[in-house]
Amino acid sequence: MSMFCWTRPLQLTLALIKPDALAHPIIFEAVHKKILENNFLIVRSKELYWGSTDSQKFYCEHSGRFFYQRLVEFMSSGPMQAYILAHEDAVQLWRSLMGPTKVFRARLMAPGTVRGDLGLTDTRNTTHGSDSKESACREIAFFFPEFSLNYWYQEQEILYRTGP
Ligand code: UDP
Repeated sequence: MSMFCWTRPLQLTLALIKPDALAHPIIFEAVHKKILENNFLIVRSKELYWGSTDSQKFYCEHSGRFFYQRLVEFMSSGPMQAYILAHEDAVQLWRSLMGPTKVFRARLMAPGTVRGDLGLTDTRNTTHGSDSKESACREIAFFFPEFSLNYWYQEQEILYRTGP
């Protein structure tokens, strides 16, 4: 049984298991296990399916890049699993567990990471993770509009100021 003994307020990040990984139960299990093994608290989780409009909206910063069309089609090609994960260092920790974006770099330079071990191509690279606390807030609101970030962070502040 894992021990949870956090000493700082818990930060949130948005993690996504992309369609390539969710299509294969063994890969999905491996990624999910990585989340649990690293003592993330799963605050919310849901399966969802994007239409191309959702993919275009979420990745609008990449519109015009050579991979944009491929990315949009891929992200709406099947179901995904979205998570709100909490940890003292949630954003950085999940990014480092995922590994680099490009598959050759992940394979060569980051074996043991999710993308290094399980990524198929630069596009079908298994997972997404917010790249900053600000992106995490924006992306959590995108995937979980009913979730109150303000309430979460207020509660965390009270908990760690006054003790549990
Ligand atoms: N992507 C791609 N080809 C590239 C770079 C990125 O298909 O050369 C896709 C890939 O799925 C990646 C997503 O676009 O995860 C978003 O790219 P970003 O640079 O934001 O990387 P990430 O934050 O996901 O590591």
